Amino acid sequence: TSLKNDISSADIRGYKGHDMLAPFTAGWQTTDVDPLVIQKSEGSYVYDINGKKYLDALAGLWCTALGGNEPRLVAAATKQLNQLPFYHSFWNRTTKPSLDLATELLDLFTANKMAKAFFTNSGSEANDTQVKLVWYYNNALGRPDKKKFIARIKSYHGSTLISASLSGLPALHQKFDLPAPFVLHTDCPHYWRYHLPGETEEEFSTRLANNLENLILKEAAFIAEPVMGAGGVIPPPATYFDKIQAIVKKYDILFIADEVICGFGRLGTTFGCEKYNIKPDLVSVAKALSSGYMPIGAVLVSPEVSDVINSQSNKLGTFSHGFTYSGHPVSCVVALETLKIYKERNIIEQVNRISPKFQEGLKAFSDSPIVGETRGTGLLHGTEFTDNKSPNDPFPPEWGIGAYFGAQCEKYGMLVRVAGDNIMMSPPYILSLKEIDELIVKYGKALKDTE
Ligand code: PLP
Repeated sequence: TSLKNDISSADIRGYKGHDMLAPFTAGWQTTDVDPLVIQKSEGSYVYDINGKKYLDALAGLWCTALGGNEPRLVAAATKQLNQLPFYHSFWNRTTKPSLDLATELLDLFTANKMAKAFFTNSGSEANDTQVKLVWYYNNALGRPDKKKFIARIKSYHGSTLISASLSGLPALHQKFDLPAPFVLHTDCPHYWRYHLPGETEEEFSTRLANNLENLILKEAAFIAEPVMGAGGVIPPPATYFDKIQAIVKKYDILFIADEVICGFGRLGTTFGCEKYNIKPDLVSVAKALSSGYMPIGAVLVSPEVSDVINSQSNKLGTFSHGFTYSGHPVSCVVALETLKIYKERNIIEQVNRISPKFQEGLKAFSDSPIVGETRGTGLLHGTEFTDNKSPNDPFPPEWGIGAYFGAQCEKYGMLVRVAGDNIMMSPPYILSLKEIDELIVKYGKALKDTE
């Protein structure tokens, strides 16, 4: 096949002892673990260097919404590379693609009015930018005591020093002297795992809102993913965001919505904020903004915050923050083309058309004796393996149930995200109904083997 001809090495997983320090990869210290080397993508599939085909049930890393070979994105990048491969956006010099993309993003985000967009290369940089914006904003308002950020246990906001501090996952803190002292963590809104005996979802949400209120005092901002992603795909319980927002408003705390995974259709709405009626002051986006084809992230800033920063910048000085590649023109044209395709192909309708089959197909495995909970919404799904269907009976970690399930999926030609005994999926939006069948069959086979 043509793919075989593309393959430079026929060596199966022949990169043991390679020279790269790979992110989030156990075993890199000893380099005795062979990586899976992906070489090519096509629609909802990727291929490794041996030509083995995998259904990419995680869309790369929650990103390639338009799948692996959208020619329009390649054409947009190529055209821009020929015309102007790079120019920066510092000191009032910039490029047209970045200006156009800022306008497009502000038009697209309708859950609350946003006034400005700031570009980054990633979700982590977007969340770092949020912290600096909030500090600058509160300093400008003469509120230097508002310095703390409240994030949630099990959240994932990135892996830079600040975004890893915001994240509520112990693995991101241990051995790194994190979180930074300006970050506090409040409850994870996972009803199944954390509700008290007899407590309804609404009562659970009330308790969490009260806990947040007790923590807030005069802190600076609250950050949340509409649906927690890397923490295990945890949709919010009923009334949760209504109650959390009431508290945040009461104490004049800024609400930062981390839409890095949920944004651009993943939940069947353009943004997660629409789905849960969240009215944020600041928004972080990345990933599906360019369908993962080029690195790009952005922060959207409300008129209130941007007005304060604008009006005070003479007094406080320039907002001295930004990256060489903020608003990179190639990333911006690819993002613009991605957003155009989402619109033309009515991607929201597409996600809503296919997601019930995806969700219901996976829900059918709830009866498996090793499945504690299956959960999800839109094209986002999490499975948690526990014993006795109970959140309190985890399998011994040394059994490696999740890792075994992931390896079986890989054997059957499907890639999922494994974190302990949590399995996560966020397939491309272009998935066909037939490919959903395939995904469910492969998941079922891997589950049978794991039981
Ligand atoms: N925020 C959320 C919700 C994420 O899921 C991620 C990445 O998975 C990030 C932020 C960090 O983004 P990046 O890896 O692009 O820095």
